[in-house]
Amino acid sequence: MIPSVDRVDVLLSQDELNERISALGAEITARYRGRDLTLVGILKGSALFLTDLMRAIALPLQIDFLELSSYKGGMASTGSVRLVKDLTHSIEGKDVIIVEDIVDTGLTLRYLLQTLATRKPASLATATLLDKPSGRVEGADCDLDFVGFTIPGHFVVGYGLDLAGYFRNLPYVGIYHPEEDS
Ligand code: 5GP
Repeated sequence: MIPSVDRVDVLLSQDELNERISALGAEITARYRGRDLTLVGILKGSALFLTDLMRAIALPLQIDFLELSSYKGGMASTGSVRLVKDLTHSIEGKDVIIVEDIVDTGLTLRYLLQTLATRKPASLATATLLDKPSGRVEGADCDLDFVGFTIPGHFVVGYGLDLAGYFRNLPYVGIYHPEEDS
């Protein structure tokens, strides 16, 4: 069934997202001047954030993508992470920023940091649009270098984030209220 947008309440408007992402871009620009920067976007959730963030960074940079599966189309984390699509290019010697949509349990990011660290980047940092610290599980506390917004433990959709594949195209981030019986 196609979920209804009527069940979505705006949490972060398009204007709030734009303003914060411009500030993050400026921060990254200041910190990475003179470095060989690669943004690694995690598909599919970070697609919108990555494309807006890269335009807010006034430096030469490269992008690449990884795809993982962790959630299986529902609203609860399965806790297991699987690599579905690997990077196209080597990141050896590059200054890498992993670009995530949201950090919840922290398991995905822990997996990414461990996996990418073995590929000898010059440096490895993390940028996430949203951080949900209430969802963090033991052993998955990771340092987040660039955070857009820290949010409460709701299930959110929009601006790249989905529910069963839907809602990624919403230009805002919203809280999804499930039906009583689901
Ligand atoms: P973690 O491994 O930190 O629990 O989860 C990371 C991934 O789970 C995110 O990249 C995202 O795909 C998914 N996720 C976590 N919380 C939410 C949420 O509130 N909404 C949606 N749509 N996906 C989420």
